[in-house]
Amino acid sequence: MIEHVDEEYIVSIASRLVRINSENPPGREAELASFLAERLSELGLKARVDAFDGRANCIAATKDFEKASLLLLTHLDTVPAGERGAWSIPPFEGVIRDGKLYGRGAADAKGCIAAILGALKTLADSGVELDGGGLAFAAVADEEVESQGVRRLIGKGFRADYAVVGEPTSLQVCTAHKGRLVALVKFVGRYAHSSRPDLGINALYAASEFALEIEEYSKRIAMRAHPLLGPPAISVTMFRAGEKDNIVPGLAEVVVDYRALPGERPEAVLNELEHIAGNVDQRKGTRHETIVLRWVSPSEVDAKSRIVKVAVEAVRRILGYEPKISGFQATCDMSYLVNDAGIPSIILGPGDLKQAHAVDEWVSVAELIAAAKIYALLISSLI
Ligand SMILES: [Zn+2]
Repeated sequence: MIEHVDEEYIVSIASRLVRINSENPPGREAELASFLAERLSELGLKARVDAFDGRANCIAATKDFEKASLLLLTHLDTVPAGERGAWSIPPFEGVIRDGKLYGRGAADAKGCIAAILGALKTLADSGVELDGGGLAFAAVADEEVESQGVRRLIGKGFRADYAVVGEPTSLQVCTAHKGRLVALVKFVGRYAHSSRPDLGINALYAASEFALEIEEYSKRIAMRAHPLLGPPAISVTMFRAGEKDNIVPGLAEVVVDYRALPGERPEAVLNELEHIAGNVDQRKGTRHETIVLRWVSPSEVDAKSRIVKVAVEAVRRILGYEPKISGFQATCDMSYLVNDAGIPSIILGPGDLKQAHAVDEWVSVAELIAAAKIYALLISSLI
């Protein structure tokens, strides 16, 4: 069957996907969703665009739009390309050079979309009937910001026995990923003329002490480790204060980004932040307020699950060696499949996570082809 893989098709589709800008923000998935629905119809699947609030998911199915034995899920949106001048190869031209496809989204996650299309074409060209419990493919909106796309899919009641999440894992089978807590901590002091700082309470000093204590906290948590994901991580990622160069700032804001291990809940981290911030307040005379900006649960699937075994076997047959079961360091839409819908899932796809969100992002063409073969084997084993 895999000898029918159409390499030219996969490469040309991947390049065309990169040429359709789907940066998020602002969240412009509609054109890509329509393009994809057309390609999926050509491959003989039922396909539709589910448009909502200016966004769009593309959903295809061999049987049913509401349930499937196997769901392939990946995302349409990419992070913004940022300053074009920083790129040595234009981000939206789908340039192929020296065995690599370049451009925003090449690795995250348009390479996955192209490999899935390649797998579906391989199956169609080989005459493989997908008549078991049904296959569904969802390319969803907004994975990079609030995961509105997958939440809408699950919220409307879609269920599957198993799922494969297409993200750049360098073709490793990932059974766990980290979660993420983003918290804003506001320190409130008292504004004053900077000729009389004794009349004010400088919130920036409090926020600075807090930031340095978070750095110490980051060393303490590095002692704990998950077998696949290593230690959790915490960083101060944003810092805002100051109105004018002659005003003692009465307000300073710190954004903290915590990457959680499976089993961790946000409450424990928030308690620690409260403790640190409370001590700073006592020393500095400030008060603080903590606002949770975002929480994405980590998730993990049992290595003995059938989806893991089938995926490992598919990778072994194509790459010729037993893949290591790994952890995925970033958050991804697997969180919602596992935690909200109870679907045993893995993450598997072409491209290196280090390329995701990077300038001159690329994916190896050889990996795209291998991924298409792996997905085709995996689908035919489960459907
Ligand atoms: Zn991604």
